[in-house]
Amino acid sequence: MKEQLRKYATLLAKKGLNVQKGQEVWIQADLDQPEFVTMAAEACYEAGASSVTVEWSHQPLSRLHAQRRSLETMSKVTSWEEEKMRYQTREKPCRLHILSSDPDGMKGVDQEKLMKASVARYPVVKPYQEALANHQQWCIAAVPGKAWAKKLFPDLSEAEAEEKMWDAILYASRADGEDPCKAWDEHNASLAERCKALNDLHLTALCYRSANGTDLKVGLMDESLFCGGGEQSLEGVFFNPNIPSEEIFTTPKAGEAEGVVVSTKPLSYRGELIEDFSLRFEGGKVVEVKAKKGEELLRQMVSTDEGACKLGECALIAYDSPIGNMNLLFYNTLFDENASCHLALGRGYNDCVRDYGKYTQEELRALGVNDSMIHVDFMIGSADLSVVGVRKDGTKVTLFENGNWAL
Ligand code: ZN
Ligand code: ZN
Repeated sequence: MKEQLRKYATLLAKKGLNVQKGQEVWIQADLDQPEFVTMAAEACYEAGASSVTVEWSHQPLSRLHAQRRSLETMSKVTSWEEEKMRYQTREKPCRLHILSSDPDGMKGVDQEKLMKASVARYPVVKPYQEALANHQQWCIAAVPGKAWAKKLFPDLSEAEAEEKMWDAILYASRADGEDPCKAWDEHNASLAERCKALNDLHLTALCYRSANGTDLKVGLMDESLFCGGGEQSLEGVFFNPNIPSEEIFTTPKAGEAEGVVVSTKPLSYRGELIEDFSLRFEGGKVVEVKAKKGEELLRQMVSTDEGACKLGECALIAYDSPIGNMNLLFYNTLFDENASCHLALGRGYNDCVRDYGKYTQEELRALGVNDSMIHVDFMIGSADLSVVGVRKDGTKVTLFENGNWAL
């Protein structure tokens, strides 16, 4: 097992971040797996990192802060926080996020306060985020946390649940074999091939249909590009921002979406679950939300800011995908989004625009890349989902039939 975890750590450093000689690395991790975090740091040094900084977090502490701090203090960006962002914008360290927190761990915390605080902080944070966008190598991956593992395997003991979850994470991340780095090279090559086939179609819209009530048309930009797997930073370094990643995705044209979409999996948002929900779009905006559970939170989410009610991502994943076939709900977007076709509300991806490097941020917004402080994926894949692409001349191409690729 230890040997396999070393291979996983190497995968994150070499294929996830693709650390270059002399680069700085920042790792953000919870306290759950300090031994693995140390392995990851070692793998980064071996890949050539000049220094590795670990920022620890602990969900019960985040909970405590959220409960005890006033909205006023939570809304403030302190000068040292800002200095940290300034430093990052200048040095562009690689960033590795190792997830392990409990998907339900923030339940009962005043969500409105959290949202108001992030909205208040956003104007200060945004310029730094934008200055860094596409200039930094980053990667999100996961390790088991105690509560998270128990949520997935409630009938097992804590130790057994953790072990079972390691297996699930390594399998889902294509890190359970002899040579995970090689497996990712092959995986990236096959995703790139499918992206090329899609991009050669020059689609202008995607139409989704399912017996559950989904009937949605989403417009694409002329410049929209389908991407998948690894991507290239503007500095020219190829990295894999998500491990695992099975999706092919694009940025739709904000303001062009009509119809209803029904979610097919619960959504964990701010440490709380939203279940059995649907959204109705008119003129690209959500005009109606319904949910059996968490409707108020969903309503708050889509009204976070002006762009939160518009789409920022359309992702295609076969219903029979490796992660989908595990038949395991992770209650975490990193995994669950790779088991199902999904959409995201909020911010769109600049790098899903052809030659995005030649546009300014304002020009990208004008083309139709949505702007918002949120980016929330929700799952819409089902066994009968059909997705039809519309080409410039109006002809249609079936991309998905009965939940799987038809292209
Ligand atoms: Zn996605
Ligand atoms: Zn997304």
